[in-house]
Amino acid sequence: MTANVLFAAGAGQWAIYEAPLRRALDRAGVTARLATDLPPEEVDYIVYAPGSAVQDFTPFRRARAVLSLWAGVERIVGNQTLCIPLARMVDDGLTQGMVEWVSGHVLRHHLGMDAHILHQDGVWRPEAPPLARDRRVSVLGLGALGAACARMLATLGFAVTGWSRGAKEIAGLRCLSGDEGLRQALAQADILVLLLPLTPRTENLLDATRLALMPHGAVIVNPGRGALIDDAALLDALDRGQIGHATLDVFRTEPLPPEHPFWAHPRVTVTPHIASETRPETAAEVIAENIRRGEAGEPLLHLVDRSAGY
Ligand code: NDP
Repeated sequence: MTANVLFAAGAGQWAIYEAPLRRALDRAGVTARLATDLPPEEVDYIVYAPGSAVQDFTPFRRARAVLSLWAGVERIVGNQTLCIPLARMVDDGLTQGMVEWVSGHVLRHHLGMDAHILHQDGVWRPEAPPLARDRRVSVLGLGALGAACARMLATLGFAVTGWSRGAKEIAGLRCLSGDEGLRQALAQADILVLLLPLTPRTENLLDATRLALMPHGAVIVNPGRGALIDDAALLDALDRGQIGHATLDVFRTEPLPPEHPFWAHPRVTVTPHIASETRPETAAEVIAENIRRGEAGEPLLHLVDRSAGY
């Protein structure tokens, strides 16, 4: 049997993904017709990323699944024309990149690197930073990315608290859930890392009330999604020093408009949604494995819970 696989991602993606996908499908033993243009009624699987021309899934009458190249699925999960299973991306390369980015930015703030890098002003300030074990880091979201980052931060010695929707036990971390868990995670966050998906329940999660629960001068590192934070409340908290710094990789509007106050704010670091990205070689293995599973009648990996939104 040949599986017809439509590659439906934004411009430029085909050139990056075609060869890794063909190799991975071969390795998985899947015979596939892989193309960017197939008659919709013949398509079995859709490899998808935001920016794709495909917005209406109705014509894909025999398609069995949409396989997202992105971990975050907020731009497709509510699509009313999508009535088949949706799998999201969990990719070793993506995870590794996020672990490196989060560790680097947490260490920047923990070690106070800016004091020496940005202010080389001839003044000798011999103050050593505290040890990681004396710095409390909370990670909101303990999924594929959040749990990996939290584990690495704990390995570095930080006192790490994690928060997720369901209760969890992860060695080396203090795991919390629920509203009271969130209050505790925020109250004990010298550094807060956001790795939640954007859903109706997480939008504006970090509002003025919750920002006020954090220790004065706490640092926020957000590689999750921009809309997890109420921008106006964050700017106000930064202006008052309640939040000491925010390192933001993701924004409500991307690219972040040039006139947005985040760009010029002395307590904000803007990075352009580069915390991590799906890596074609490793991601292609995940896509191929899911197509193999689909063809073998086995359950797909990393299925999105449409009602939860992630
Ligand atoms: P997962 O789906 O694996 O994990 C999501 C985590 O968030 C889970 O622990 C889940 O809890 C928790 N969660 C979801 N909703 C709630 C809620 N209402 N209350 C408390 N906890 C909640 O996602 P990933 O770890 O793979 O990715 C996380 C996000 O990272 C993506 O959705 C995306 O937005 C972002 N991302 C950013 C990138 C960048 O470059 N900046 C790159 C890739 C992803 P539970 O475990 O109980 O289900």
